[in-house]
Amino acid sequence: MPNFNWEVKRCSRCHRWLALEWCFARDRSRGDGLHHRCRECSADLKAVHYEANKKEYRVRLRQRYEANKAKIAARYRARPMVTAERLRELLTYDPKTGIFRDRDGALIGAVYRDGYWRIYIDGRPYRAHRLAWLYQKGEWPPNEIDHRDLDRANNRWTNLRAAANGQNHANTRARVDNQLGVKGVRLGPDGKFLARIRIDHKERHLGSFPTIEAASAAYAAAAKAAWGEYARAGADARREQA
Ligand SMILES: [Zn+2]
Repeated sequence: MPNFNWEVKRCSRCHRWLALEWCFARDRSRGDGLHHRCRECSADLKAVHYEANKKEYRVRLRQRYEANKAKIAARYRARPMVTAERLRELLTYDPKTGIFRDRDGALIGAVYRDGYWRIYIDGRPYRAHRLAWLYQKGEWPPNEIDHRDLDRANNRWTNLRAAANGQNHANTRARVDNQLGVKGVRLGPDGKFLARIRIDHKERHLGSFPTIEAASAAYAAAAKAAWGEYARAGADARREQA
C-alpha cells in the first residue's frame, strides 16, 4: 500500500479543504514541497500569467527554436551529402511517376507541410526533386529546380526544370493579397486597371488599361519577355480555390 498523505489542507485562493496528496500542486521552490494553492487555482494563475506575458513567452520559444534549428542544421551539415552512386545504390527513381522506392519496392519519403516531398538518406534530409536531378544527371542541380505545374510534390521528370532564382519566382500564381486575383494587375484609384511587373526586385509600371484583360495581357507580354517559358500569367496564374 503506497504511503499517501491523506492530510487535508486549505487552498489559500479558493479556501477549499482538499486532500494534500492529490489536490495541491507541487512546488520545488517551497520547503514543504507543496504549493499553498490547489491545482486548479495554480493552473488558473499559470494561464493568467501566460496571457499577461504571452509576447515574452513567444519570443523565448522562438529563440529556443532558432537555437535548436541551427544546432540541428549543423548536425546535418556535418554529414556528407549523398553521392549519385550511393543514391542509385539505395533507391530507384521512376521518371514517369516521379517516385522514389527502396530496393524492396517500398515508397520512400513523405510530403511535408511546405508541400515538398522529402527523403532522409543516411540521416540527412533532402528534397526529393533535387535527388531526382542527382539521380538522372549524376550531379546536384546548378541552381534551383522549378516544378512546371507548381505542384511541389509532383517530381515527374517532365515536371522538373532547372531555373535561376528569378525564373523560379516567375512561375507563381497571383498572390493571396491580390485583390482582383489577376497576377500583375490591380485596380487604380481612377477605376482603371494598372499593370506592373517586378523584375529583380525592381517594380516596373506597364501603364493603365480600361479592362482587366488588357492589363493582364500587358503583364503577360512583359513576363514572357523577361522570363520566357518560365513566365506564368493570365488564366494560368489564377489563384486556386482552396
Ligand atoms: Zn484553490
